[in-house]
Order: sequence, then C-alpha cells, then structure tokens
Amino acid sequence: MKIMVSACLLGDNVRYDGNNNFNQELIDFLKDHEVVKVCPEVLGGLSTPRVPAEILNDKVINYEGTDVTKEFQEGAMKTLEIAKENDIQVAILKRNSPSCGANTIYDGTFTHCVTKGDGIAAKLLKDNGVTILNENNYKEYFKRRGIMKQSDNKIIKELCDLKYKNKNLVLPLGWTNDGNVFYKNFRRISGLFIAGATGSGKSVFIDDLIVSLMYKNTPNEVKFIMLDPKSTELGEYDGIKHLLSGKSHSTLKKGYDELIFLMKILESRVNTLNKSNCNSIESYNQVAEEKWPHIFIFVDEGSSIIKMKDSFQVFNKILDYGTDVGIHLIYATNDYLKEYVTSNFIDKFRYRVSFDLASVEQEDFLKLDNASWLNGNGEAIFMQKNGECCKIQAPYVTDDEIKEVVDTNKI
Ligand code: SF4
Repeated sequence: MKIMVSACLLGDNVRYDGNNNFNQELIDFLKDHEVVKVCPEVLGGLSTPRVPAEILNDKVINYEGTDVTKEFQEGAMKTLEIAKENDIQVAILKRNSPSCGANTIYDGTFTHCVTKGDGIAAKLLKDNGVTILNENNYKEYFKRRGIMKQSDNKIIKELCDLKYKNKNLVLPLGWTNDGNVFYKNFRRISGLFIAGATGSGKSVFIDDLIVSLMYKNTPNEVKFIMLDPKSTELGEYDGIKHLLSGKSHSTLKKGYDELIFLMKILESRVNTLNKSNCNSIESYNQVAEEKWPHIFIFVDEGSSIIKMKDSFQVFNKILDYGTDVGIHLIYATNDYLKEYVTSNFIDKFRYRVSFDLASVEQEDFLKLDNASWLNGNGEAIFMQKNGECCKIQAPYVTDDEIKEVVDTNKI
C-alpha cells in the first residue's frame, strides 16, 4: 500500500527552523509500505528555514505578519497532484501543522495552543477522499485494517462470536484504546442517543448495531422499526423478516403511522405487565404462550421526525418504560433542535455515543467530553449510565457483510 507521509516525520530537515520531527516508530512501521514523501510548504516555494506561520481567520500569516496563504495553497495543490499521480488513499501527516494538520491546528497566536481545524494541504487531500492520519493515531487505524484482513471482512460476525455468544442483546460496539472489544448489554438500554457531524460514522454505527442484532437474534426474538426520513441509509434493509412492517420508512407520514402503532404496542405491554404478576419482558416471556420480541426503533437523522405531532411523546414513553417492556430507541441526529432536543430530553438518554461533533458547544450540550476532537474515522466517545465516558473505535461494517445478512433474512 502506498502511503503519503510528511517529510519532516521521516527526518528531512524541512521544518520552518531547519529541523525535523524524526519518528523512528513510524519509520519502522513504514518498512512494509511504499512511501510518498511530501513537504507541502517546500512544494509551495517557501525556503528552509523560514518564518513560522499559523492559520488565522482562514489566512496563513507568518510571525512577522506577512500573508503566505498563496504559497501554502500552491503547496497544497502540488501535494494533491502527487497524491493523485500515486493513487494515494491514506496519508500520515504531522499533526497541528498549518499545512499538514488534520482536525486540529495551531490557533494563530504562536503560543503552541491548538484549535479545531485543518491545515491547507490536509484539507485539500481530505476533500479529495484521502484519509488523513497523524503520527499519533495511525497505529489504531492500521490495527483495525489488520483485523479486517484476517477476518475476511466478517468483522461484526467475528465480534459477535468472540464473546457473549449466547447473550442475544449484548452487542460489540468497537474497540477501546487498549485493544479490547467494548460490549454493551442493550437489555438495560431504553434509549441510545447517537450524535455526530455528517460523514463522521453515525450511519455506519447504526449498521453495526442492526447487523449485530440480526446475527444474534431470530426475527421472532427481535423486531425492528426503521425511520429514515432522508431516505439515504436504511432502505437496504427493506424486506427483512426482522422489520415489523417489512419496510423501512422514508416518508414522514408512514413514519408517523409506525410510531403510533409502536405507541399502542408499548401501552398494551405496560397494561399487560400491570395486570399480571410480571414486572419485565423476561418474566412475562417465561409464562406467556406468545412471547414478546424486543423491538428496536432506529431513527436516522431524527430532527424531522421529532417535530411531528406526538412523536416526542412516543420517544419519551419509550425512554421511561422501554427496558421493562423490551422497546429500545436508537436515535441519531446531527441537528440539535433545542425546542425539542432539550437538555431534559438528552438527560433521559442514559447512554450516548458521539462521533466527531462540529463544535465544543454541542460537546458541552451532550456532556460528551472531547467529542469535537475526534478524527472522524469511526472514533467515538461513549457515555455510560453513570456519566463516565470512554473512547472507542467503532467497527466498519462492509456493504458485502450487510448484503449477506440481509439476503439470508429476506422474507
Ligand atoms: Fe512537516 Fe508538513 Fe510542515 Fe513540511 S509542511 S515541515 S512536512 S509539517
């Protein structure tokens, strides 16, 4: 695999002060790969040594106050040309640099403080489909690819079989920093709130959950309702036996009907439990002739659904009674409508997961520390019931794996 790498990380004295950022560990790792070395600032015609520069208000200004944006853009264009010539898919670039940094860069004050943003070359590469890693996170990314290779892309199935095989609602959500698989028992989760900017990994994570549930549960054990008002993600599951109505719903009207139907199921289950000696779906299923399946309702891009009459009440009821009656809300959005998604509503989700967020304000609102500093390749912060947060790397479920599991479960 060809990897583009910042020249300074490989020991070239191209840094502004004539030095380098030599990284032996990275060099050892790259022995098995073909390397394409670049220094965008040198490619842009800047000399070495040179006056240091940082990005401020979309311009690159050097320490003496000179605007060097043009040179940085020129260097970025040349870097992109080299990437295209070499068919580069992945680049490992020096973090925080105004050229090479991705997700975080020096903040323009020359005080070594960083802010959210991309360097000029990193952004151009990103916009053209190149995955940007840095000297700190590349190992995690390749480790994940290594696992994918070994398992012939059957990641989710492999993770489901690895541990808790017989616990049908214990699902693998990803890997922790120490490389262990992170599992969660959805039996105790009435609602999971999934946040993140567009393209940060939310929808893949929903696929992970759906595919895991399908591997571990028959259609008699688990049913789905899928509301997908933007009609972009969940249609591929149409026709599977696990779907309560056989279809995902992309129109608001059909979505609304399904929500009202779900409300009736929920109320009927609550009444049944109240009238019986049972206090949960498990105790009911032990004595009932016709067992209740757990119902998972997946709401992708929930902002348009939540505005609809009654839907807010349905969601609240699920959050209140879901674990007793076996109904679980998986609610994903990148839009925080304060009118509905109030902090009270958010607080009812005792479990939250966030992929890269657009702002620190969103991070504070969701109480998910550091979620606006994630790298966007499936990195996530998971918050547990006790408020503790941990970083996880979500698995990447492939289209082939989804197709396989869907084909074997079609009506
Ligand atoms: Fe290193 Fe990139 Fe800066 Fe060149 S532009 S010195 S490669 S960080």
